[in-house]
Amino acid sequence: MIFNKTGLVKDNLYVTGFPWSPVYLLSSEKPVIFEAGFSCMGRYYENDIMEILIGRKPEILFMTHVHYDHCGAASYLKKAFNGMKIGASRRAAEIIKRPNAQSLMTDLSENVIKIIESMDGINNEILVRDEFEFFDVDMILEDGQIINVDNGLSVYVLATPGHTRDMLSFYVPEKKLLIATETAGCMSHTGSIVAEFLVDYDLYIKSLKQLSSLEVDVLCQGHHFVFTGNDVKKHFEQSIISAEKFKETVERLLQSEAGSIERVMSIIKAKEYDPNPGPKQPEKAYLLNLRKRVAHLAERIGTNGHDNNIL
Ligand SMILES: [Zn+2]
Repeated sequence: MIFNKTGLVKDNLYVTGFPWSPVYLLSSEKPVIFEAGFSCMGRYYENDIMEILIGRKPEILFMTHVHYDHCGAASYLKKAFNGMKIGASRRAAEIIKRPNAQSLMTDLSENVIKIIESMDGINNEILVRDEFEFFDVDMILEDGQIINVDNGLSVYVLATPGHTRDMLSFYVPEKKLLIATETAGCMSHTGSIVAEFLVDYDLYIKSLKQLSSLEVDVLCQGHHFVFTGNDVKKHFEQSIISAEKFKETVERLLQSEAGSIERVMSIIKAKEYDPNPGPKQPEKAYLLNLRKRVAHLAERIGTNGHDNNIL
């Protein structure tokens, strides 16, 4: 099954707030949430979580990485659920303190409000219009760490770099539940999978293969969809193929376009982004990420278009 809305997916696992950039809730004995979505959707997440937990509140917010669309409402939710701890990697805890990261997140959070407020079915009255607020990480999460959240239920922390260097994934083996977000690629509304390596293609493929070797029945990507059952394996296979294909296409274009990152970007965007009816990543954020992917591959093969590994 491919789940594309808010509500109960399976076994106490809920998509809350907004499928485009959701907060996942595991309503275990000690409820926990994963991701903190967009800053402006804070109240949407809060309302859904309160409705499901009826009087209880999440104790931990596990965060895969600190991009504006994954940590946007962290501060809001921390205030809404007094005592909740925010868990992220050491690198994420450092990144969130950097002024340039903060100003980028403020800028992208402001940019996305304009898109969301004009979407059908959005209640503009409850959008949070305050500036993106920073937060402290309360729990530094290390690769291999295991956090018990219930009798016989635990969250395994996996370092899965490639999309970013701070990237974590969370695995609940007892439920075969994997919160992978961008480590597993991101299927868009066109059905194609966006390869999400922003900092390191080889690490991205390694992390993706590591996750695909786990026993997974419910796979949460960062945006739009949750995969269950047979669709999990299919998604992993297609995600690896799409990353390899994207790399080959960019390498070929870098050759034909004489190494021009700008020209390669505009060809890729016309194919990957423009035909997507959305909801989709705002153009500003998309171009920022596309530039990282293309520039990384250009650097990886060397400016003369030959693979450094071969030379
Ligand atoms: Zn991201």
